[in-house]
Amino acid sequence: MDKIIKAVLFGGKARVALMETTETVNKAIKTHDLTPLAAAALGRSLTIGAYIESNLKSETHKFNLIINGGGPIGKIYVTSDRVGTVKGLVENPQVDLPLRKDGKLDVGGAVGTNGDIVVIKDLGLKEPYIGRSQLVSGEIAEDYNNYLFKSEGILNAVALGVLNDKDGCKAAGGIIIEAMPDADDNMVCILEDIMSNFTNISALIAEKGIEEIGNYYFGHLDAEFFPAQTVRFKCDCWHKIRKIVRGLGRAEIEDIMKEQGMLEIKCDYCRKNYVYTEKDLDFLFEEE
Ligand SMILES: [Zn+2]
Repeated sequence: MDKIIKAVLFGGKARVALMETTETVNKAIKTHDLTPLAAAALGRSLTIGAYIESNLKSETHKFNLIINGGGPIGKIYVTSDRVGTVKGLVENPQVDLPLRKDGKLDVGGAVGTNGDIVVIKDLGLKEPYIGRSQLVSGEIAEDYNNYLFKSEGILNAVALGVLNDKDGCKAAGGIIIEAMPDADDNMVCILEDIMSNFTNISALIAEKGIEEIGNYYFGHLDAEFFPAQTVRFKCDCWHKIRKIVRGLGRAEIEDIMKEQGMLEIKCDYCRKNYVYTEKDLDFLFEEE
């Protein structure tokens, strides 16, 4: 089961989140038939999404993460329907590029840097919160790091990774550290030093798991760990499908059914296909 483990460090002057998202990424690979490159890009984005979701304070709060760098993968979308779940898609799941010179997948080349990373949070207020920053490298960890600093004013460090093997994703996840404004230079220095161990975070997760990583690297920093939160790839579109159909209006739906014999709606997030015929009309439009 995928999970997120959080801790406060230095008596609350910093906090760390350790994410393990291997199953989530494997579900995304199966759902969208992702190439290893697309899996790396979407997997890193889903890990950020899981983190944002885990920080929402109410189950009615929602978020959308959109990464649009103008590269061959197209736009990346991540969102969540309910607590403990995340879902996402990329416009071009078949994207493929030659490996970089260091042998790694060229996520930055697939995503591009000609655009921005946008986080929209609906916190039940009149207006949603919208944060945005220019993409730095398209590698996603660096971009989210820059986003948190520029848009939300948080001193932070981000490591993300997806390790693929022939069967799919072997390990995926990440670590995000945030320093509070009252953290001193010494603490920031210690945290920077620790982060330098996470240049290949997915391999480390495959080897040790996030509990051990948390204890080993952060346990001595006056750390207080919280119970793990679970996360999984899930789409709740069937909950909303009638609402979407109703939004089109009964007359419009009847016209479509007359012309095509049925109404077909595909969910981009989970690829589920909904097919309705005239006999479903009363069900679709009945009072709830
Ligand atoms: Zn769906």
